[in-house]
Amino acid sequence: MVVAERGGRPTTADMQGREFDRLLALGHLDILDTPRDDGLDRVVRLIRQVFAIDIGIVSLVDAHRQWYKACSGLSFEEVPREDTFCRYVITSEEPLIVNDATKDPRFSRHPAVTGAEHIRFYAGVPLKTKDGHTVGTVCAIDRAPRHFADTDLAILSELAGVAMDRIDLLRSAATDGLTGALTRRAFRDEADKLISLAVRHQHDLSCIVLDVDHFKRVNDTHGHAAGDEVLKAVATICQVNLRASDLFGRLGGEEFAIMLPHVDAKGALAAAEKLRAAIAAQTIHGDFGQLAVTASFGTAALSPKSRDIGTLLAQADAAMYLAKAAGRNRCVDWCSLDAGYQTGPRERVLKAGTILYGDRHSRIDCTIRSLGADGAAVTVSNSSGIPPELVLIVAGDGLETKCRVVARDRQNLELAFG
Ligand code: GH3
Ligand code: MG
Ligand code: MG
Repeated sequence: MVVAERGGRPTTADMQGREFDRLLALGHLDILDTPRDDGLDRVVRLIRQVFAIDIGIVSLVDAHRQWYKACSGLSFEEVPREDTFCRYVITSEEPLIVNDATKDPRFSRHPAVTGAEHIRFYAGVPLKTKDGHTVGTVCAIDRAPRHFADTDLAILSELAGVAMDRIDLLRSAATDGLTGALTRRAFRDEADKLISLAVRHQHDLSCIVLDVDHFKRVNDTHGHAAGDEVLKAVATICQVNLRASDLFGRLGGEEFAIMLPHVDAKGALAAAEKLRAAIAAQTIHGDFGQLAVTASFGTAALSPKSRDIGTLLAQADAAMYLAKAAGRNRCVDWCSLDAGYQTGPRERVLKAGTILYGDRHSRIDCTIRSLGADGAAVTVSNSSGIPPELVLIVAGDGLETKCRVVARDRQNLELAFG
């Protein structure tokens, strides 16, 4: 819904409110960073074929980036939001057609236009939820200027409808097609039930998060199909080593999570160590020849402070990032972390934030993934220039706080407040 002031122009507060609601809707979809889907891959291939065009994209746009759920004709997976043509579609909630980007003052100096990508034509339509929130875009892009008729726009809008229907359908999938693991959503639902049971009957329960090390290199060196084989092999190793009562889910591309009922913190670390050793010991064979991978593990156990899946995953995730920072191919238990940094409850959120550093002269947009009274997990396009001490602003919550970086990887920061 667009709320306008009496003169017709939306105010800054209206825009912030709309963005807040939009991110809430995107958070509910729980689709960011989920694995590729054949149905949406088909939609982007169709865009290329129907319009005889170079590039087709189905994207979701969070606070700081445009992430490609499906893309044909480009090799990236995401771009900073500020660098995109699509941000205009997100703010206006209307289609945008740029027939020749060199003649459009908004885009003529854009690196994708002046550089090797040589983008000339862009047509983008909003990807809208049933409630009318623009969570992303569906676009057709070409390296030569071109005309786009009303009928073309109507077709692209229909394809956006198909994409949204597919995304809605994906939400009800219980298992991941590639690995057979539970989908992120199903994993969280089942984990919630296990937590309720464990709290009621006062038994132990713990959580493991694992992420394959340097997986991008596997894809870059051996190709995406080899990467898929590696993911299948890693999932199989986990599945055969786990008990039937354990939950095994795929949280994202090469990140998995496990819930272990009746297992305490010490037992979870031992289970993680067993999986780590099994993965490191296995040689994976395929058309690509043979290769070996390792994974980094974080563990966390149910405690009076962490009685919900959001907090448990946030803790196991932070421990996993520390395992990465300590050299990868290792397991870190949440309890063993720096005593000055013990998170309390965390809520899983999707909110817009800003990071300030360098005496507030440098500013970076971020997306907040989890938030508690004493810390947050945030994602940025590139974490490399960010110093260990910074200020985090969550405008929608009126929060501004000094933070220190407790753990990080290329795009994720685990922040402790104060
Ligand atoms: P790190 O050790 O820090 O975890 O480095 P990394 O390279 O594993 O992590 P990064 O997050 O940089 O890269 C993950 C890569 O996983 C990027 C993405 O292309 C790839 N990926 C995500 N989902 C899939 C998938 O379903 N199949 C394949 N083959 N690759 C995927
Ligand atoms: Mg990885
Ligand atoms: Mg990862």
